[in-house]
Amino acid sequence: MQKNFDLIIVGCGLAGASLAVALRDAPLALLLVESLPPAHGSVPPVAADAWDARVYAISPANSAFLAEIGVWPHLAGERMNRVRFMEVWERERGHMTFTAPDAELPELAWILEASLMMNELREHLKRQANVTFFSPARPTAFCADSQDADGLATLTLQDEQTLCARLIVGADGQNSWTRQQAGLAALDTPYNAKAVVANFMCEKPHHDTAWQWFREDGILAWLPLPGERLSMVWSAEDAKAEALLALSPDELAETVAAAGGNILGRLTTLTPAMAFPLHSIRVPATVAPRLALIGDAAHGIHPLTGHGINLGFQDAKALATLLRQAVPGQDIGALAFLQRYQRVRREEIVVLQHATDFLAHCFTARLPGLSALRALGLDLTHRLPALKKLLARYAAGML
Ligand SMILES: Cc1cc2nc3c(=O)[nH]c(=O)nc-3n(C[C@H](O)[C@H](O)[C@H](O)COP(=O)(O)OP(=O)(O)OC[C@H]3O[C@@H](n4cnc5c(N)ncnc54)[C@H](O)[C@@H]3O)c2cc1C
Repeated sequence: MQKNFDLIIVGCGLAGASLAVALRDAPLALLLVESLPPAHGSVPPVAADAWDARVYAISPANSAFLAEIGVWPHLAGERMNRVRFMEVWERERGHMTFTAPDAELPELAWILEASLMMNELREHLKRQANVTFFSPARPTAFCADSQDADGLATLTLQDEQTLCARLIVGADGQNSWTRQQAGLAALDTPYNAKAVVANFMCEKPHHDTAWQWFREDGILAWLPLPGERLSMVWSAEDAKAEALLALSPDELAETVAAAGGNILGRLTTLTPAMAFPLHSIRVPATVAPRLALIGDAAHGIHPLTGHGINLGFQDAKALATLLRQAVPGQDIGALAFLQRYQRVRREEIVVLQHATDFLAHCFTARLPGLSALRALGLDLTHRLPALKKLLARYAAGML
């Protein structure tokens, strides 16, 4: 049996779900197809008394986007923390600080759990009249211009249902099935490193400060969470990452506290360490006839600048804006229409991917003299308030 929709979103992670919610008032029939059952999606729910190890820095531009779509005001304030100060260190030699007042912003970012955002997006989707949700469901074939479906795109599911739509959106993550089906190229370069994440209680107050240390053995970030907790992301070569994963909770807390110079006193491990392999994924074309990619399906970026889902939310916002502006009768799957979305998103994605790649390679390279040069670069930038303000506002999505 054939079912018709205006738009099918493949993948209900944060990017796909936020696009669907952003289209709640649009005169479009939406279908979300998610391969995992809701309780086991890419961002599974976390018990109210536990903390999710996936903690993200969300930029002011994206707290504004989530507010626009009605999600932000419903997030539990007691599980979110502002970043008002940030310190960046090169070994112990050079350092740079950013402050929210210097950047003329109320905060540099918000730190919160991925599951907090995902739960609220799911609650919105449950109440949304124009959304049908198939989960668990997995597509097996995609055809962009099917003769049998009057030129619409068709998606065939594992149970052999045929679904038709004017536009398919691939929001199915870094190894995007839709991207592969559409034949869109992706340049996937592994960093041969993993990001190890865990949460801790700290002995001393963090005063809404985030820290990042470029170390001999990787890039260590501490992000402030409420109630004197912190979230750690330690991006390290595979062997170091495996060694961190093998530590007992007490050993991990001790190692992480020492790596941060014990500035927050004694740490206590709250969540077991988890690791994510790191890739840079560049996708030169993010649209094709009847197909658009958003989120990690459209770009993979090192977490050191905390921009993965920030780019994904901005993709969702840009595509939703374009779709809402479509005039009656306009073909929303036409390549020329979709290229407007690609053009709007191109600059931010390219700039942040190149800048993040440059930092990841430059700050992990071990060439003689490079560490001193990096320290000098940080110290010099620290002394240029106008440049720091520009960098902080660009990272916040507020330029
Ligand atoms: C350690 C770490 C720290 C990070 N920190 C930050 C941060 O501070 N700030 C930030 O902005 N970003 C951060 N990121 C990046 C962020 O995690 C990702 O950018 C984000 O999760 C991508 O969301 P997505 O919805 O695009 O993809 P995903 O979360 O991968 O969701 C894709 C969805 O599609 C589904 N799916 C896959 N294939 C199919 C299929 N064939 N059919 C149907 N469904 C399918 C999956 O089940 C999943 O639900 C971090 C990443 C890591 C690893």
